[in-house]
Amino acid sequence: MSVSLKELVHYIDQLLDVGRFRDYCPNGLQVEGRGEVRRLVTGVTACQALLDAAVAAQADAIIVHHGYFWRGEAEPVVGMKRRRLAALLQHDISLLAYHLPLDAHPELGNNARLGALLGITDSQPLRADVADAVGNIGQLPEPRSAAGLVADIARLTGREPLHVGNAGELVQRIGWCTGAAQSYIQHAVAAGADLFLTGEASEPTVHIAREEGIHFIAAGHHATERYGVQALGAHLAEAFGLEHRFIDIDNPV
Ligand SMILES: [Zn+2]
Repeated sequence: MSVSLKELVHYIDQLLDVGRFRDYCPNGLQVEGRGEVRRLVTGVTACQALLDAAVAAQADAIIVHHGYFWRGEAEPVVGMKRRRLAALLQHDISLLAYHLPLDAHPELGNNARLGALLGITDSQPLRADVADAVGNIGQLPEPRSAAGLVADIARLTGREPLHVGNAGELVQRIGWCTGAAQSYIQHAVAAGADLFLTGEASEPTVHIAREEGIHFIAAGHHATERYGVQALGAHLAEAFGLEHRFIDIDNPV
């Protein structure tokens, strides 16, 4: 089975409510390839290794969370940027990228998927004051030790997370936001969370955690953002009868 590129892009743009977000990059079709899509590859970041793997897999389209054309990046098409675009254009492969809309989707999003995989329920927006904010707050079914949650995260992601806090303390109310959302620890404090989970840490985050008395976990930017695009790919494969493969390019950050 296959779907036209035009229909696929339109479907995803609607599904993820792309127009609702002010983002740092264009969401949707970033590089146009062939008009018909049968084989779909998904990945976290449109790095060269993912493109090479998609070429080898004879993909018609690639969907990623981290695409190209970020606000503030150098515009000339030289070096790494030329090689990446050349690989896509030479092989007639489309690149679709969904950043904040894929973080935020209530079922297929990075935050929704990570929360579900960790057994967090009663999920609410972490910030009620901003309409297109990402991040959630919810509850574990019962209080449990921070160490137990850290162990679950390590099993899920295949890497040891950074944890700031007393491992033996009980936590239940969890704020989280995938990726580089360490500054949102302040919103988690304001929302009364016992623990805030994100991908990356900054030096000040540790002091905020200690002084505000909130547990902090940095579980990896890449590691926490693998789940949304996989769920989206599986959904599209089902909806349009496409072949879909998620290709994980390891990233320790
Ligand atoms: Zn990210």
